[in-house]
Amino acid sequence: MSIEIKNVSKDFGNFRALKNVNLKVETGELVALLGPSGSGKTTLLRIIAGLETAEEGGILFHGEDAQDKQTKDRHVGFVFQHYALFRHMTVFDNIAFGLRVQPKKIRPSNEEIKKRVHELLGLVQLDWVADRHPSQLSGGQRQRIALARALAVRPKVLLLDEPFGSLDAKVRRELRQWLRRFHDDLHITSLFVTHDQEEALEVADRIVVMNEGRIEQVGTPEEVYHNPVSPFVLNFLGNVNLFHSRIEEDGQAYVGNVAFQLPEKAGSGKKTATFYIRPHQFQVARVAGGQNSFKAKIKYINPAGAPVKLELISEWGGLVQVEVSQEEYQKLALKKDEDIYVTPKEISLHAPENNQLDKVWFVKEGGGI
Ligand code: ADP
Ligand code: MG
Repeated sequence: MSIEIKNVSKDFGNFRALKNVNLKVETGELVALLGPSGSGKTTLLRIIAGLETAEEGGILFHGEDAQDKQTKDRHVGFVFQHYALFRHMTVFDNIAFGLRVQPKKIRPSNEEIKKRVHELLGLVQLDWVADRHPSQLSGGQRQRIALARALAVRPKVLLLDEPFGSLDAKVRRELRQWLRRFHDDLHITSLFVTHDQEEALEVADRIVVMNEGRIEQVGTPEEVYHNPVSPFVLNFLGNVNLFHSRIEEDGQAYVGNVAFQLPEKAGSGKKTATFYIRPHQFQVARVAGGQNSFKAKIKYINPAGAPVKLELISEWGGLVQVEVSQEEYQKLALKKDEDIYVTPKEISLHAPENNQLDKVWFVKEGGGI
């Protein structure tokens, strides 16, 4: 079932929590709502579920206005971060609950309920915990049971609000991959709230980046990561270095006293611009790299990871975070307090003047400058 959100605005008192939100989620898609705390993700999810009403705009479920439909008639399943399973009920009874409270004329027989609960337990791979109580489960198992419970009434849409938020990092990673497979097997439409960009990038078909009640960008993980439309999206989707520059008449951008030669399209004339460079977008060398390279002192090295993380102090005194491969780190035999030369390979240049975000390459493919 597709979901269409049209010009939705939502107020709490005189605070506007959602501002003219438009979004279409296609049938079978897994879409992540990604944004910082307070950006309106939960509010949007609650409006879709019918737990909250919008001041303006509307929601269409499969092309039909959902405004008059109550929550129970919207065929949505819910999983929250702290999904309170009923503590006094067994896992079996928790999952069966939604079916047992259905009106008599649509309620399945006890035999059918039993069958369906065991199917769901099989689906979340926890058939062996049916007789346990929630307190006898791990956090990850509890969230899987919460999911089974949400699915018992065969919803067409699954809404998940930070479902793995309270779990530790390793379990989160396992469950997110598991959710992806699960979503694909069920052919359900899922909308998934998270403030964790890694989670969204790894799991979703499309990502909706939210900021202060507005949608900043909608796109595939690849699109939003590689072609962010704004500094906000760029910043939110991963670590990034930020250098303030001034662009002179000669078309060069100065960061401190270091000149960077910009390609023509970046324009010239006195203005300021911000460089955004991700930690992996630098070339590191022992010798001066010529144009567009700068000197930096190694302040800190963290070799415990796939990329080696370096913290540098640039010649203009700024902190620069750089990542190099283990091979490069060993080849260059980098040590703390040594000077190295750094060249940005690729930057995103933001000129506040026209609010544009341009990509600029300093190092061409193959390493030439
Ligand atoms: P998110 O889920 O992205 O963290 P929310 O949708 O929960 O954000 O909240 C968006 C904004 O709306 C926040 O500033 C929050 O304080 C406010 N808000 C949410 N629910 C209410 C409410 N019931 N009453 C007043 N303000 C609310
Ligand atoms: Mg929230």
